[in-house]
Amino acid sequence: MSNLSTDLTGSSNSRARERVFDVPKRCWCREAVVVLISKSDPNLYRRYYRCSFAATNKLWNDEHTFKWVDEALLNEVDALATKNAGLEQQLKELRTERLEFEKMVYEKMEKEVLEKVEDGLGEAKSWSKKMMSVILLVCMVMIGLSKVVG
Ligand SMILES: [Zn+2]
Repeated sequence: MSNLSTDLTGSSNSRARERVFDVPKRCWCREAVVVLISKSDPNLYRRYYRCSFAATNKLWNDEHTFKWVDEALLNEVDALATKNAGLEQQLKELRTERLEFEKMVYEKMEKEVLEKVEDGLGEAKSWSKKMMSVILLVCMVMIGLSKVVG
């Protein structure tokens, strides 16, 4: 019997220390946690989580689970907000990374396009040079021919 009780207290203590739920699911005494409505004046109709063992035995000022539902939910919301802030930071970092990547790609593309345009211009230039020399040659031939004819 003493073995059982030490085992119980030992495991329940470690459990209470290990897991602190914002919204309690189970009391450290292994009884389920229930939602009750306060009937006392300062917190009338305020809902709270209570260890069902403590509730059925009408315990008061005990160590069993007691937590206001709104406070527990607020804690959860706070936890979520903290999580969200972390996610937002990650998103921000991702966005910055993406922007930098896009900038890099854009700059690379711009450079390539510019190079291609320059290549094209170069080709056009050499082509017009060829054309010019052909035209010059034709002119010279025509002038020569006209001299021969004349
Ligand atoms: Zn309990």
